Amino acid sequence: MIPERYSRQIRYAHIGEKGQEKLLSSTVVIVGMGALGCVSANELVRAGVGHVRFVDRDLVELSNLQRQVLYTETDAAEAVPKVFAAAEYLKAVNSEVEIEPVFGDLNAGTIDALFSGADLIVDATDNLETRYLINEYCVEHQIPWVYGGAVGAEGMTAAFLPGGPCFCCFSGHAGVSGQTPGRTCSTVGVLNTLTATVASLQVTEALKILTGSDSVRKDPLYVELWDNDFYPIPMEKNPDCPVCVHHRYTYLGSVSGTQAVSVCGKNAYQIVPSARKSPDFQALSEKLSALGKVTLRSYYLEFESPSASFRLFKDGRAIISNADTEGRAKSVYSEYIGGL
Ligand SMILES: [Zn+2]
Repeated sequence: MIPERYSRQIRYAHIGEKGQEKLLSSTVVIVGMGALGCVSANELVRAGVGHVRFVDRDLVELSNLQRQVLYTETDAAEAVPKVFAAAEYLKAVNSEVEIEPVFGDLNAGTIDALFSGADLIVDATDNLETRYLINEYCVEHQIPWVYGGAVGAEGMTAAFLPGGPCFCCFSGHAGVSGQTPGRTCSTVGVLNTLTATVASLQVTEALKILTGSDSVRKDPLYVELWDNDFYPIPMEKNPDCPVCVHHRYTYLGSVSGTQAVSVCGKNAYQIVPSARKSPDFQALSEKLSALGKVTLRSYYLEFESPSASFRLFKDGRAIISNADTEGRAKSVYSEYIGGL
């Protein structure tokens, strides 16, 4: 008997009962729970992917609500981590699949744990470094992944399969969306119809890959919704690709030392210390209250003073605000939190 929940999808001939069984036994990891991640998670959970894990390091803000469809005004007012808000919503939509929110950072040190057991990765990030890392990991471990990028009204998506051309073969192309420095959603904006379109295109390829279809789109697709441009960009394997041909990895395995990443569109840096220790919030807040205003929240400690402001999370990473340079962010971390 066809389960009622998935009946419309099972009646679609290219999925059928066999395809649905494959989806139910699949594990997908979504990296980033912004606009693309929200739409992808929503569609994958409703489609009955048996295990959906999502990873994100941010808290819900009011400016997210225009396009990040899983969050509410209450989530923004309470600055709830995106992954927890998304999990709560989606568990009410489909309680039959496993939903695993991970509040943290994807980097070379965490990728093994975060991608364990994955049949497919959905890229819903906003930066190129993370995509290169995902690409290297997926080439090495032969995991398919689906790329998506969206800025303004302009987007791009591509599916990368084991053995085929990889993101590194392709990303030399001048048209790759999201690559132009300074051109981000914060500076030039983004249409919510674009993020919904790009993420749905990603999920469609993901469903094909997971169900074993041979209709997976071979070439990356470029879309421009305002001026109505849709066209494929031919992609070929680079016979000298350092990643998928020579297996020389730049991002994977580069775990040593403290990492500092500029936060997209903000005058802020995320610091991930090399020694991952949970900070003692109680002791720190006593020490810091002599220097500025300390607020202890469920998921993080917030500190504000005229000379430094930051949010420190339970895994030891921190977002340092009003920091112009990586060096300044690291020195704030050392001075106020310590242990770098
Ligand atoms: Zn390659």
